[in-house]
Amino acid sequence: MPIYEFLCKECGKKFTVLVGISEKEKVKCPTCESKNITQVISACSFKVGDGSRGSCGSSSGRTNFG
Ligand SMILES: [Zn+2]
Repeated sequence: MPIYEFLCKECGKKFTVLVGISEKEKVKCPTCESKNITQVISACSFKVGDGSRGSCGSSSGRTNFG
């Protein structure tokens, strides 16, 4: 499953969620549980062409689930 990055418009929290495409609409903010969120297209989860892997080592604002 792909990882999507979202930004909460209510509290400004940026978070990533591992969901299927059909479940994207059920995603809500882990902080305030708002569904007023917008998807962020992150360069790292994007696959460009073949063989080119973007390095995503350091990312700030990582969300821990669990
Ligand atoms: Zn929020």
